[in-house]
Amino acid sequence: MTDLKSLEFKELEQYLSDMGEKKFRAAQIFKWLHMGVRSFDEMTDISKELRSKLGERAYISAPDIEKKLVSEIDGTVKYLFRMADGNCIESVVMRYHHGLTICISSQVGCRMGCGFCASTIGGLYRSLTAGEIADQVIFAQKDMSERISNIVLMGIGEPLDNYDNVLKFLHIINNENGKNIGYRHITLSTCGIVPNIYRLADECLPITLTISLHAPNDGIRNRLMPINRKYPIAELMEACRYYTDKTGRRLSVEYSLIKGENDSLKNADELAALVKPLGAHINLIPVNKVEEREYRKGSKAEINAFCQRLISRGANATIRRELGADISASCGQLRKKTENITERSAFIED
Ligand code: SAH
Repeated sequence: MTDLKSLEFKELEQYLSDMGEKKFRAAQIFKWLHMGVRSFDEMTDISKELRSKLGERAYISAPDIEKKLVSEIDGTVKYLFRMADGNCIESVVMRYHHGLTICISSQVGCRMGCGFCASTIGGLYRSLTAGEIADQVIFAQKDMSERISNIVLMGIGEPLDNYDNVLKFLHIINNENGKNIGYRHITLSTCGIVPNIYRLADECLPITLTISLHAPNDGIRNRLMPINRKYPIAELMEACRYYTDKTGRRLSVEYSLIKGENDSLKNADELAALVKPLGAHINLIPVNKVEEREYRKGSKAEINAFCQRLISRGANATIRRELGADISASCGQLRKKTENITERSAFIED
């Protein structure tokens, strides 16, 4: 059975023409898929005959909303979606002045093993298909009846560890027959799988790349993020330079501040020196508490001092505002709680 929503528009045209159908049907069917229909029978401008032919050889992915939490503080909405195979993923919709932004997952679990992250605790279960990645945008928007205008690939999973499906997803969600979300409104966050940063750069899509740096030197980064032992900071920075040169897009850097680990003023100096040449913006995130981990955040004053130090060294930095604090909006936490995911060693060696 063909997973229809994982086909790019051109592939859908080809698929239909192979069935002996007219190409223009592709626009109609693509539109229905992206409106979130759950069955072919809902495609009312398609003949009954074609609907039943499709039903015999293809299927429409459609997750269920297992849980929905709405923050009373700021209206942030968190979804726990259950997919056809029973696995769950999380997506979060945040309200900004410029519209709704959705933070979506790219994998069920993660094998990157970052020490402070809830998503990696049970390891990687599987990667999502392109259609399943799109479904989060489609079904969140359908549920909220409000257009989602921005996407960040910053939920569960490492997008560059699911490269082919993520790339397909980018093409699919950008297509004008469906959600038509501009590449400039899409951000992809990575822990730094260097070869795939080069591949992505060569696609020349003007999406924003965010690097989860979290450390100003290899000593600290090796401790916090196993991926750094494979691709150390210097190689990562070179790949970032290539990305910005190739796409003309400004880079941003995520830096979770962890008390006593990476938050000294000396660390701020190192970080400023590292990032300034790239002209990247630094998002400082006071580390979120994860039950299984002992990492803690510093005081407000310490966090402000770190930020001020970066700025005084000529770097561009802000402290990320926390949204959805009452619904544990940071990804990985709800799935872990609901599915009772427990420690299992994650690995990144291929
Ligand atoms: N795998 C991708 C995207 C998912 S994580 C990546 O690494 O970028 C999204 C962001 O949240 C990353 O910057 C990640 O490092 C950060 N993060 C994970 N756990 C966190 C925690 N407990 N506190 C603060 N930030 C965290």
